[in-house]
Amino acid sequence: MDASVLIHFTDRFGGVSAAPFESNNLAYHVADNPLHVKANRTFTCKALGISWMADMEQVHGTAVRIATERANRTFEACDGLITQMENLALMVLVADCIPVLMHDPKTRTVAAVHAGRAGAFGGIVLEALRAMRETFGVQPEHLHVSLGPSIGGCCYELDGVALEEAKKRFGAHVHGRTLDLRALVEEQLKAAGVLHVKSTFGCTCCDTRYFSYRRDKTTGRQAGIIMLKGEDESKKRSL
Ligand SMILES: [Zn+2]
Repeated sequence: MDASVLIHFTDRFGGVSAAPFESNNLAYHVADNPLHVKANRTFTCKALGISWMADMEQVHGTAVRIATERANRTFEACDGLITQMENLALMVLVADCIPVLMHDPKTRTVAAVHAGRAGAFGGIVLEALRAMRETFGVQPEHLHVSLGPSIGGCCYELDGVALEEAKKRFGAHVHGRTLDLRALVEEQLKAAGVLHVKSTFGCTCCDTRYFSYRRDKTTGRQAGIIMLKGEDESKKRSL
């Protein structure tokens, strides 16, 4: 693992939120006590050595934005964030959707992407690849992509229009009524030329160490977090 980049996926543990958000819920939009969410975010950032963090108002779309300032900021209406800023963490929040973290060691570029069914069907990971290439010259073959804990093909049952669309467009990943969303996203990445895809986590709906919307409906959100580590600013100043 490249020591110059932080790649981390959180789980339910180590926070202060009460049921049904117990305990390390990192999302403000799920009706948890905002003071608890703030404390959870503060603890998580401190533990990971994060001073600045950008997150997204995620909307299950395909818009991708570039973060160019080291600031705590929530980007409106998007599902992918890209940056070359050092010491700026990017965070994606999920409870079954796939948190996708991307790192290009060649150009020192990172991305955090929210890939649920709508986003994956719309090609959010391909949009992120396109934006990384256009803005920073990232070549897909240099990228290292990690897919975090998310709902598995074991539990992700669809019905109605969603099932029909999945069968029609991504039939290879539909088994009976269930969709293997991670396999679908992996295939999209590989078809676009990405060689290094790591997908080692289990199913959030089966594994109670994670928040799962499908299992619990009212629940918290875990995070995928990525950050380019730079020289410590305080050290620089003391030289
Ligand atoms: Zn499962």
